[in-house]
Amino acid sequence: MVAVETYQTVAEAAAGLGEGARYLGGGTIVMRQVNYGDQGFHRIVRAARPERGIGNDVQGLRIGAGTTMADILAHAELSFLHPVAGQIGGPAIRNMATVGGNLFAENPYGDMAAALLALDAQVIMAGGQTHPMERFLADRKHMRGLVEAVSLQRPQPGAFYYRKVSRVKPKGVAVITLAALIRGGEPRVVFGNMAAAPMRAHAAERALGGGVSEASIAAACAVCTEGLSPTDDALASAWYRAEVAPVHLRRMLESGGHS
Ligand SMILES: Cc1cc2nc3c(=O)[nH]c(=O)nc-3n(C[C@H](O)[C@H](O)[C@H](O)COP(=O)(O)OP(=O)(O)OC[C@H]3O[C@@H](n4cnc5c(N)ncnc54)[C@H](O)[C@@H]3O)c2cc1C
Repeated sequence: MVAVETYQTVAEAAAGLGEGARYLGGGTIVMRQVNYGDQGFHRIVRAARPERGIGNDVQGLRIGAGTTMADILAHAELSFLHPVAGQIGGPAIRNMATVGGNLFAENPYGDMAAALLALDAQVIMAGGQTHPMERFLADRKHMRGLVEAVSLQRPQPGAFYYRKVSRVKPKGVAVITLAALIRGGEPRVVFGNMAAAPMRAHAAERALGGGVSEASIAAACAVCTEGLSPTDDALASAWYRAEVAPVHLRRMLESGGHS
């Protein structure tokens, strides 16, 4: 039997968390865990009024953790994220699935988390602490507290690249997710499903440091799997992922960025 406790805000819900509790965002993952009899928790904590929607802060855009994929698709201001949100599950999932939940979604999920890592987002906790996405993802298993929002700079038109490699169209889960932000001399290239959590491909980033050209794409593709550790699962073997990752990196970079 799982007890459900409802608080008004995420901050209050964070204070109500404790041993044996799991926070409920949109519930697309948590409710499946309940239905399968997950013994890891016996209390569900939820917030009646989580931060939901898009605003502005000092960094640029602030997206509440309770914002759903459907909310993102309804915002013209977030058009660069539409290719990401629009390929997460089907319509019913997109109506429930939140940005906050996606930050904790394990492989083969976490497409929005991969995109936010490429976009150099900051994760804002209910207590006000902020973590760069890279540190947050590396430590997420040990994170205490709840996520209130994420904050990011809007990318220049065409600077954000995204590609989801899936075997089942249009709503299959990813074999690999790729995202990149090409800005100045500091490109960011991210792979999802190529490690335990979305990860930057630093060697590829160095190769693209002088800009995107035929030569730099070739150099990036040659080294893009360095430091990554894909695993075998029911969707694909680690070997297959490593083989096709350069092919999809090339296709993503050659097809241009989103506006
Ligand atoms: C059929 C199906 C298809 C799917 N397809 C995709 C897909 O294509 N791509 C993809 O990325 N995902 C996919 N998912 C996974 C999932 O729907 C998404 O990752 C979604 O964004 C998770 O968000 P949620 O709000 O539903 O999470 P929940 O189930 O509510 O929570 C998931 C985890 O995150 C924690 N959590 C949630 N919100 C917060 C918060 N604010 N602070 C701290 N912890 C929090 C919860 O405690 C829980 O541990 C799919 C799921 C299903 C069932």
